[in-house]
Amino acid sequence: MRVGLGYDLHRLVVGRPFVIGGLSIPFDRGPEGHSDGDALTHAVVDALFGALAEGDIGQHFPPGDPSCAGINSLRMLAKAISIVNARGYRVANIDAVIICERPKLSPHYKEIRENIASVLSVDISQVSIKSKTNEGLGEIGAGEAIAAQAVALLEKAD
Ligand code: MG
Repeated sequence: MRVGLGYDLHRLVVGRPFVIGGLSIPFDRGPEGHSDGDALTHAVVDALFGALAEGDIGQHFPPGDPSCAGINSLRMLAKAISIVNARGYRVANIDAVIICERPKLSPHYKEIRENIASVLSVDISQVSIKSKTNEGLGEIGAGEAIAAQAVALLEKAD
């Protein structure tokens, strides 16, 4: 088995759709980024690459790469899981935390879990999503940023 850790943060700016875990949620601002700025999915991708010691998301998807402009981050996740599978591993489970002051994300957990589980070809029971506010502290607490942390456990496929 191998375990990996991922972390990501994006600024939240007016004029961008609020995308998290492949889901667009109505809100007055959204994550800035070269892709769709999906911090949760980026953290999961980095957890998968970390478990394989395969570097990080920036090496696989260079920030200036025109083919990644505005990309749906679930496509990055699909590429990451294809690398995991090619290395002979499958996902045992994912656990993640989103740190965000607003909007309230708990009503969307199930759909986010389904999105990620579907791309990873695992059961929804293998994908855990939680969220916290930052108690009003710092940039995240002021609603100026969103962050996410994720761990991925991989097991050797037989
Ligand atoms: Mg990112």
